[in-house]
Amino acid sequence: MNALELTGQARTHVVEPPGLQCLMHPDAASAYLAMRESAARSGIVLEAVSAFRHFDRQRQIWNAKFRGERPVLDAKGQPVAVDSLTEARRVEAILLWTAVPGSSRHHWGTDLDVVDRAAMPEGYAVRLEAAEYAPDGLFGPLTAWLDRHMRRFGFFRPYVTGRGGVRPEPWHLSYAPVARSALAALDVETLAAAVRGHEVLGEATILSRLPRIYRRYVRTIDHAPRMRSRWARPPAR
Ligand SMILES: [Zn+2]
Repeated sequence: MNALELTGQARTHVVEPPGLQCLMHPDAASAYLAMRESAARSGIVLEAVSAFRHFDRQRQIWNAKFRGERPVLDAKGQPVAVDSLTEARRVEAILLWTAVPGSSRHHWGTDLDVVDRAAMPEGYAVRLEAAEYAPDGLFGPLTAWLDRHMRRFGFFRPYVTGRGGVRPEPWHLSYAPVARSALAALDVETLAAAVRGHEVLGEATILSRLPRIYRRYVRTIDHAPRMRSRWARPPAR
């Protein structure tokens, strides 16, 4: 991936897999389709509610939160009144749940937020909250299935423990073989070039803190367990 692809400013590294209404990196897409097929045999209908996300979309989300037009939540999920915060604090508050435009793993096309369509009652609005993915939650069986099988297809969860800056996101999966090299290729300078002069609110604050933001929110993830040899093989059809 080149700098524009790594920061979501291009779509040259993603495709729309047949039958799915989202964009993914081709390698992640074939692994995901194989995993989806396997899950279906266990009665789980995997659905990606978010996969590739363009820089412009991430900026729209970021700027809406910065302006207080979209809720900003604290670590407990309670709304924060952003207009009462200094710019620096506002940036920190948003970072808890939202990546700086250019730094989202969704830019790579390797990461997706998944639900189990089969478990959802009609008209159910997905909240993407930890409780839904807990053992007694609506998506508890999905969590258990993924725990057991996703590794075989190359997927892992980069935000499990919240040990980085990002809150735990049990719905967020990442395709390790490609995401690993994307992470290695994305450096602070590439990220700075994406933010600078691209109408990201709080730009000056973000740029002045970028090395720390990068360490804490981009580099600090729950890494994939050591890849087994079977990961290296193309997923079974
Ligand atoms: Zn996600």
